[in-house]
Amino acid sequence: MLPIVATGIIFLSATASSAQAYSVQVTPTRPVLGDTLSVKIQGSSNGVTPTVTVDGTTYQAFTLSPNTYRALIPTSPNTKPGRMTLAVSGPDGNNSIAVNIGDRTFNTQYITLSSDRAGLEGTDYEFDRLDELRALRTPQRYWNGPMAKPSTGYISSVYGNRRYYNGVFAEDYYHRGVDYAAGNGSPIYAPAAGRIALIGKVSDGFVLNGNTIGIDHGQGVTSVMIHLSGFAVNEGDMVEKGQLIGYMGATGFATGPNLHWGLFVNDISVDPVPWRYEGVE
Ligand SMILES: [Zn+2]
Repeated sequence: MLPIVATGIIFLSATASSAQAYSVQVTPTRPVLGDTLSVKIQGSSNGVTPTVTVDGTTYQAFTLSPNTYRALIPTSPNTKPGRMTLAVSGPDGNNSIAVNIGDRTFNTQYITLSSDRAGLEGTDYEFDRLDELRALRTPQRYWNGPMAKPSTGYISSVYGNRRYYNGVFAEDYYHRGVDYAAGNGSPIYAPAAGRIALIGKVSDGFVLNGNTIGIDHGQGVTSVMIHLSGFAVNEGDMVEKGQLIGYMGATGFATGPNLHWGLFVNDISVDPVPWRYEGVE
């Protein structure tokens, strides 16, 4: 009798296991282009983190608490609005969930470049260093709560603007950040805690971006601050939210003193506004 009961228990538990899938919750519930999707996944994967695949790109989830994981999915003006399928996969099985990405209108700018400016190109060194920064997937999460304003200046350009250069629509271009304008040398603060993963200097080849600070906030979230006049931190420093990290400038391809802050999630520039106000958990 005992073996039969045991078999029954194993059978039931096997049934429950094969029928079990991750429980998935996506916020915000009504995302629009530029938003970061926070995908919370619950299951008993014994510490093996599940992944989320969207349109052929696989995103790693990180452990929030035992049996609870979270992946961040970036969207941008280049994301196709409408139905997006998130395929969750891991030891607990596969689970697909669809979300609707709302369309959004971005401003259009018409830029006329003089021939000397049109010819300004960056260096391999600066592009490689920035690629390395955006490729970081540090398991530790450093940010907490809504992000802080990196400058007390006024916002001179918002995220997502599209452009025509000399009358030609720039297909892949969108403004990958938010610009703040204030006086030359005005302070720049860390929008969130993290590690200074990049100090890029004009003298080392940051000719397009100018003096640059890259912050690793952890779990695929990074900040890039460009056009600085100077630095208040060194590479490798840990910083807190609101800490002075540098000074506004007009180095690189800048028409006047301004801070360009780009916020990247898994290599894609997302709108920092939801991160600043609601925060992303
Ligand atoms: Zn900018």
